[in-house]
Amino acid sequence: MPVAEPSAIAPPRVSDVARIAGLFVGMIRSRFITGRPFFLAHATTFGCNSRCQTCSYWKLTPRMKEDMSTSEIFALLDEAYDAGMRGYYQFGGEPLIRKDVGTVLDYARAKGFYTAINTNGSMLAAKAPTLGSLDVAFVSLDYFDSYHDVIRGRPGNFDEVIRGVERLRSLTRAKVTLVTTISSLNPGAMEPTARLAKDLGVGIAFNSIEPTLDFGLTNSDQSPNLTFQLSPEQLHQFYVTALRLKREGYPLMETEEMLEGYVAGRPWKCEFPKMFVYVTPDKKIYSCDYRFGYDLRAGSFEEYFSSASFRAQVRSAETCNRCVRTCVRNYAYTYELRPRHLVHLAQNAAKLYRPVPRTGPDGSARHAPRGAELRPTS
Ligand code: SF4
Ligand code: SF4
Repeated sequence: MPVAEPSAIAPPRVSDVARIAGLFVGMIRSRFITGRPFFLAHATTFGCNSRCQTCSYWKLTPRMKEDMSTSEIFALLDEAYDAGMRGYYQFGGEPLIRKDVGTVLDYARAKGFYTAINTNGSMLAAKAPTLGSLDVAFVSLDYFDSYHDVIRGRPGNFDEVIRGVERLRSLTRAKVTLVTTISSLNPGAMEPTARLAKDLGVGIAFNSIEPTLDFGLTNSDQSPNLTFQLSPEQLHQFYVTALRLKREGYPLMETEEMLEGYVAGRPWKCEFPKMFVYVTPDKKIYSCDYRFGYDLRAGSFEEYFSSASFRAQVRSAETCNRCVRTCVRNYAYTYELRPRHLVHLAQNAAKLYRPVPRTGPDGSARHAPRGAELRPTS
């Protein structure tokens, strides 16, 4: 099937309200009519400038030459929009190492996408002036002081994150949520990092570590993360702590209902394949567990969503329950339109959309707090 030509000029800008409404309508259409994804999750590059102990993506950096060009990404966005997608989420690798990140986000926003990015924060301060079209930034922060640099294999990254978050918030309207991955390297990090997020006036989301799945480099049986995974008891404690922090008013993006489900061991139905489609830097679709690939260069979203493989993915997800990533379950509860969950999500959004304070309570210039001298306990 032929691939659509990229638009020759940037599409006209779509208002914020229209984009958010479009995303919501996209979800409702998916939920009640099509059962197809409305969020394009795009790994824009194989490259990464960190060397995280808990990840093997950075080993794919030599494959950057396979990354799509800017015009190819524009074409991808055109195709995705025509296929009903209204959210555009960039990850990697490290998406900010691409020179065209701002241009691509401008294009996506003008097209009508709600835009999000997941970044290690290393280049956030430098790139912030180009990120005016970004709606949400998820910024990785695995510890509340420079021990973060040890986990992430990048000296100075803690300071880069703090500076980047401050600069992004001062120059753009992007909302920021820290993302903290808990492993055996940082089991004591949850409360102090949540406090740091609160002090910074940003959200925080917690994930427990999972096997790294990286477009074929490793699989769930040989992932380096097996070394750092939490025991079942630690995992349970992780959910108990997250629920406590949530109830104590820290700005966790997880909802109480969802965390209660984990703590009580309730089964849930994964809706992920109906919400998100993963596209790799070389324009392949991968399933959520990276076991299935479909080449978009030789096909189309329409063909993939009509395929038996897509339908099989959706069916197997409904009883999977494998992910320990809280975000996946959070998405599922949203897709199912659970009333209490939606109320809590609205409360989360209200916290994030509060104006950014420019000074501290005493009128002094706001600065990032530094963590106490705590270290992992195991
Ligand atoms: S976790 Fe992110 S920042 Fe760290 S090596 Fe992997 S892709 Fe890079
Ligand atoms: S729970 Fe299973 S189907 Fe759902 S995202 Fe995780 S691995 Fe995929």
